[in-house]
Amino acid sequence: MSERRRPIVAGNWKMNTTVDEARRLASEIVEAAGDVVSCEVVVCPPFVSLTEVKRVISSSPIELGAQNLNALERGAYTGEVSWSMLQGLCSHVIVGHSERRTYCHETDAEVNAKARAALAAGLVPIICVGERLEQRDAGQTAGFVSAQVRAAFDGVDAGAAPRAVIAYEPLWAIGTGRAASGADAQQVIAMIRTVIAELYASSVAQQVRIQYGGSVTGANAAEFAGQPDIDGTLVGGASLKAAEFAAIVRAFAAPVNKMG
Ligand code: PEP
Repeated sequence: MSERRRPIVAGNWKMNTTVDEARRLASEIVEAAGDVVSCEVVVCPPFVSLTEVKRVISSSPIELGAQNLNALERGAYTGEVSWSMLQGLCSHVIVGHSERRTYCHETDAEVNAKARAALAAGLVPIICVGERLEQRDAGQTAGFVSAQVRAAFDGVDAGAAPRAVIAYEPLWAIGTGRAASGADAQQVIAMIRTVIAELYASSVAQQVRIQYGGSVTGANAAEFAGQPDIDGTLVGGASLKAAEFAAIVRAFAAPVNKMG
């Protein structure tokens, strides 16, 4: 029997917080959730606040993530932030968030390049996948999400794959207040685990952590934490309130009987 997967709760602050606000929020989160070790806790502030937030969380187990990266090392790409700039600064990076796929037209191929660059740099990519409402209504969720997962892991070898985290985030649940049900999220996440087993081996699939994301709050987090295949959450809006974020962390940190 393999070890239980350690849950991972990550807060995506998106394009919110000035540097001062980020410093304040980070210290409130350290205060509210800095004692938790059974669940990995990651905060992902805007790029400009990474250094300052890193300083604030340094005395706690809370880890630092970026919200995006460029797969190239350096060059004439005004405004971009490369993997080499993040290496040594943070430990995690969100890849292929649906807002980037939608507003910045990020393709599956770019998501794959970013995931591979992150893994090669020693960063943990949090790879986001998820269907639109029309796709769900048309019964296309499994086909669409599995294709996104296969594309994201293209060329990633079995040694590196278990370090990646997948965030299943149905687009209709992000920022809408309309979370998926625990059972629906579990069903898709179990399917994603089957795809990883097909790509690699069931031993790899049992190690990869798969989060649910989409309108998770302190009030509904336990519903997701109790599902056998859901290994944490990627949190948007609720990660901007320290007490709410801490309640989510504690729901996933509570001992549950989930064996990998
Ligand atoms: C997200 O953007 O990744 C997200 C899950 O947002 P929210 O929690 O606000 O739905």
